[in-house]
Amino acid sequence: MKLPSIVRRILPEERGEPPAPPSAVATTVPSNGNNLLEIENLKVWFPIKSGIFLDRHVGDVRAVDDVTFQIRRGETLGLVGESGCGKSTVGRALLRLYKPTAGRIVFDGQDITRLGEADMRPLRRRMQIVFQDPFASLNPRHSVARIVGEPLKVHGLSGGRKPLARRVRELLEIVGLPADAATRYPHEFSGGQRQRIGLARALALNPDFVVADEPVSALDVSIQAQIVNLMEDLQHEFGLTYLFIAHDLAIVRHISTRIAVMYLGWIVEISSADELYDDPLHPYTISLLSAVPIPDPIVERQREAILLPGDLPSPANPPPACRFHTRCPYVQPTLCRDEIPELRTVEGSEHLVACHWAEKIRAGDIKPHEREIVLEPPPPELVDVPPPV
Ligand code: SF4
Repeated sequence: MKLPSIVRRILPEERGEPPAPPSAVATTVPSNGNNLLEIENLKVWFPIKSGIFLDRHVGDVRAVDDVTFQIRRGETLGLVGESGCGKSTVGRALLRLYKPTAGRIVFDGQDITRLGEADMRPLRRRMQIVFQDPFASLNPRHSVARIVGEPLKVHGLSGGRKPLARRVRELLEIVGLPADAATRYPHEFSGGQRQRIGLARALALNPDFVVADEPVSALDVSIQAQIVNLMEDLQHEFGLTYLFIAHDLAIVRHISTRIAVMYLGWIVEISSADELYDDPLHPYTISLLSAVPIPDPIVERQREAILLPGDLPSPANPPPACRFHTRCPYVQPTLCRDEIPELRTVEGSEHLVACHWAEKIRAGDIKPHEREIVLEPPPPELVDVPPPV
């Protein structure tokens, strides 16, 4: 039956849902040759379902909500933010381990946002991941030789038993493990050694891009430095590009060329590592850095940590306008609660920030507020009521 002309399809945006994805066509797109990855308006939403029989869609967890950034060839982009802000989801979406809800991911000039598994396969050789937990990410029943050689077998690049064994020995040597490690099992190694095995596995296919998802968070401090130094050496030797996800700001500064700060599914600031630490512009970054200890007792005593009130709001129901306004110590009566702040360049530099008042905060014209102390009303006094006569 032909629908009357007045009836039209209700668009997903009008139902409060993300826009429908474009068709799954592999396209080559014009891109800046310096960028290995270009991410535009990326959204990764996870549906919330309710009901036993109908499984109704009642909302979405907006883990990543409209982020745009680039990763340059050969650089390390640090991605920081508190737990639950969406940084790991970004990393996995870039590798297409999570399906993007909207937006575009361009890898080396090719739009990979909607590529099917078969089309992604040759690209997977060029994109690898190192996981956070070196204990859970290695199969305890497989020998190290099998773990490290598996990517080569899966992609049909093993070249036979002897070449594969030689390549595994070579990879183990590259990451600083003895050749006899190949015949041993993950439980025989320490956390740092296991992370080296994870790195060897990631390097097996000669990737261009590696997502390091909190690769040192589960390790002792002394071992962390070894792994970070190893990652830097590997980067120089093999021309790798890293997305380094972490919440330890000192380590991120050490390894990163540029740093992006995430808050509740948004990127709120991006700049070179030194500039971000020397001149943070977004109130969230300012508060994060105020909590990093400085190894100088005199400076440390004079500093005041900015404590953010409350918890991270739910990504299923984020605050309107500026998402940080419910916790921001610099929140203003205008704009903050009414308009979404764009991620914009400050004063012609490459420093990007998503705050309406960044320049005034930097100039010291806006100071952090003293938070009001809300006193509980005193309990009513108990009075003796005479018994009824
Ligand atoms: Fe804080 Fe307002 Fe800036 Fe948001 S826009 S970070 S609430 S000052």
